[in-house]
Amino acid sequence: MPFAATILTLYPEMFPGPLGTSLAGRALNEGRWTCDPVQIRDFATDKHRSVDDTPAGGGAGMVLRADVVAAAIDAVAGASESNASRPLLAMTPRGRPLTQARVRELAAGPGVTILCGRFEGFDERLFAARAVEEVSIGDYVLSGGEMAALVLLDACIRLLPGVMGAASSGDDESFESGLLEYPHYTRPYEWEGRTIPEVLRSGDHARIAAWRQHRAEVDTRSRRPDLWERHEDARVQSPSGARNEMEDD
Ligand code: SAH
Repeated sequence: MPFAATILTLYPEMFPGPLGTSLAGRALNEGRWTCDPVQIRDFATDKHRSVDDTPAGGGAGMVLRADVVAAAIDAVAGASESNASRPLLAMTPRGRPLTQARVRELAAGPGVTILCGRFEGFDERLFAARAVEEVSIGDYVLSGGEMAALVLLDACIRLLPGVMGAASSGDDESFESGLLEYPHYTRPYEWEGRTIPEVLRSGDHARIAAWRQHRAEVDTRSRRPDLWERHEDARVQSPSGARNEMEDD
């Protein structure tokens, strides 16, 4: 079964959008995933087909109505058993920050149904009423959930079997081990007076692996102390004995 993505949105024309090109686009053509955007407005019931209303308590902007969005959710879930079995996610800056670990879980499953917000977001009652998992893609505010959904889908799709080949599904990637990945270099060896670290030209696979591990640790510690702290907390006992030899990179 392909990974099935259903996206509830006011802008269905944004899908597959950029995911129709490159690796994700090829995977879509090969049937490795399916993309099914659903227009939320089709589930509005009044004559103006309104999907939003003013915020209770006052203030700027508009709020997506729980009844209209729930009708869209229920129609999608009711269409098939496999639809109903998929996780239901809502993109919102108030959600749990997306992690590579969660992306891996989602990619290993049957697919996702994603709610894309607009305006001030959704009526809060929706989340409890339909067991919605609220997901944020970072601490900044977008104008709508569509871009966030594309980000989440891109992260999942590249992990689907056959999409990227063996090269990039390994443990080396940033976040897979709780660390940032080590830096990369390629030819030319010298560029604008800068060279590639000698160890990478040594052909000594053990030294190269040790250097990469060292750089992953050093860079994570300096760039992302939050990740580093979590990594240190999680690490039971480090088997790495190669540190000293690596100090002179
Ligand atoms: N008033 C809201 C922001 C609404 S932005 C607040 O301050 O929390 C409009 C929509 O964009 C949201 O409903 C959500 O679907 C999407 N969005 C904005 N930022 C996002 C983020 N960081 N992660 C996921 N979705 C986001």
